Amino acid sequence: MFAQRLAQVAPSATLKMAAEAERLRREGVKVVDFSAGEPDFPTPEHVKAAGKDAIDQNFTRYTPAPGIPELREAICARYLNDYGVKITPAEVLMTVGGKQALFNTALALFDPGDQVITHAPYWPTIPEQVKLVGGEPVIVQTKPGDGFAVHADAIIAAITPKTKAIILNSPCNPTGALIDEHTVAQIADAAAKRGIWIVVDLCYERLIYEPVPHNLPRVLFDRHRDHTVIAGSASKAYAMTGWRCGWTIAPKALTGAFNLIEGQTTSNITSITQKAALAAFTGSQAPVEAMLNEYRQRRDAIHAWLTASAGIKCVKPSGAFYLFPDITGLLSPDGVRTSADFAQQLLEKEHVVVTPGEAFDAPGYLRISYATSMEQLREGATRILRFAESIAPKAATASR
Ligand code: PMP
Repeated sequence: MFAQRLAQVAPSATLKMAAEAERLRREGVKVVDFSAGEPDFPTPEHVKAAGKDAIDQNFTRYTPAPGIPELREAICARYLNDYGVKITPAEVLMTVGGKQALFNTALALFDPGDQVITHAPYWPTIPEQVKLVGGEPVIVQTKPGDGFAVHADAIIAAITPKTKAIILNSPCNPTGALIDEHTVAQIADAAAKRGIWIVVDLCYERLIYEPVPHNLPRVLFDRHRDHTVIAGSASKAYAMTGWRCGWTIAPKALTGAFNLIEGQTTSNITSITQKAALAAFTGSQAPVEAMLNEYRQRRDAIHAWLTASAGIKCVKPSGAFYLFPDITGLLSPDGVRTSADFAQQLLEKEHVVVTPGEAFDAPGYLRISYATSMEQLREGATRILRFAESIAPKAATASR
């Protein structure tokens, strides 16, 4: 028998759809895939070059467990530049992607029975990791009516004597919503009074489309620095998902605990990746800007195409690269009943892969990744609209 802790944990819902899409592809079917949780762009040239150089220079051995000093210093410089916050390398530890940043946090902070508050729709890894270490996720729902905004009073109302931490994700996967500074300030003040940790997943921080205030590190450091963990990632901003590079920024003592975990598990992140990441942080940021501009155009295009259907309602996301439309207007008791059924039939009939909202604790929605080419977006949108037309319950068609 396997360990008890696995009994609580759900497998990734996106993988099931991906497997079916792969089966169709192997049969020669032209599948349009909107399930990607990663950039479709290649890693920028200068970053790749630094990785190749690391190999040629034989930079292929173990490194210090928290990461090479110059990389941690580069992260400090970047946060000073981006957010005006002063951090020291002793507060930074490199991780195998943002995923391990969050998992180290869960391992170091959560005991069985601890409650950890987060907001839904969520990236499933967040609650699953809490469960994996025996904690209890407490979910606060957000709604499309106000753009999936996280409200401080709802989060604060979920606090109990068992609350150990609050995990915030902004920009959010899957909704693309940002959490505003004032909300984070209110949550931080409430958490500070009770000694509750705040973990903020900023993996999509460089993918924000309009210039809105989003200095969450500053807000948290001003109020609650000794109980703040920032999880960061090079994956999305620099199109580096396969390199596996993330980091934590946390108080020195907690970073020491992460170091202990790191030393007994992965030892360190890949040496070659560290050199590539150093080039990503210190080199030209023009590729990041270029990708952001391209994502913005794609977002605007796919949003306009899909909302042409009377049955599809969709908030225009502020960040990340997902659209999260409400398709309840297309569902009916005697037709396609759930968003999971919709996704399954869309795959079978039109060969378009989307992730059903059920995967994010949000039935009635779809997650559509626009980290794919404009042609694929156009083709996929055409197929989705055709499918929507074919199943639309009478009410949706009549309202046109
Ligand atoms: N946080 C969120 C919200 C994500 O969507 C992802 C990736 N899908 C991550 C963290 C982690 O990504 P990585 O491990 O590649 O850094």
